[in-house]
Amino acid sequence: MNIILLGPPGAGKGTQAGFLVEERGMVQLSTGDMLREARSSGTEMGQKVAAIMDAGNLVTDEIVIGLIAEKLEQGAAGGFIFDGFPRTLAQADALGELLAQKGETLDAVIEMEVDDETLVARIVNRAAEAVAAGKEARADDNEESVRIRLVEYYKKTAPLIGYYHAKGNLTKIDGLAEIDQVRGSIANILG
Ligand code: AMP
Repeated sequence: MNIILLGPPGAGKGTQAGFLVEERGMVQLSTGDMLREARSSGTEMGQKVAAIMDAGNLVTDEIVIGLIAEKLEQGAAGGFIFDGFPRTLAQADALGELLAQKGETLDAVIEMEVDDETLVARIVNRAAEAVAAGKEARADDNEESVRIRLVEYYKKTAPLIGYYHAKGNLTKIDGLAEIDQVRGSIANILG
């Protein structure tokens, strides 16, 4: 089973993807994690995307589609969870094609609905918690960047809601519910 967790930054996609990895042996594909990894290992691509990511803008479709294509090649017996990808209609089309080439399907798109002010508060809090734990906060986890990430989400990613609704595989859940409740809602959808 292959699924997309769709929602704005801070909606809890990564947290829920982590549960699915534990419970179902699925493979989480987070383009944000892959890009951060490319940055910390200092690859040319990592250096190219650093400033774009820190500002809160989207990197090019070509780069993220390339990253995903590489991972899909490796396969996943338990299926893939796409987290933070696709973020544009071009990425969504590319994902559909890549899956079709492998004879795979997209089985569910779960939209995690959360209100904006909660997101901003969550992300600013995530940065404070990282610092309190002696870790480095994400460079883009500050209010200015979060607001830009939200605008990017509404402009470029939110159209995917209509796209997947039209394809018949979209289900909305309340991303503001308690973490375990959200976990339960996702489990119900996946069966
Ligand atoms: P995330 O960890 O998903 O919040 O992603 C962090 C940042 O990485 C985003 O703000 C973008 O700059 C970049 N990024 C991650 N995934 C994508 C994607 N699918 N398309 C474009 N940019 C992305």
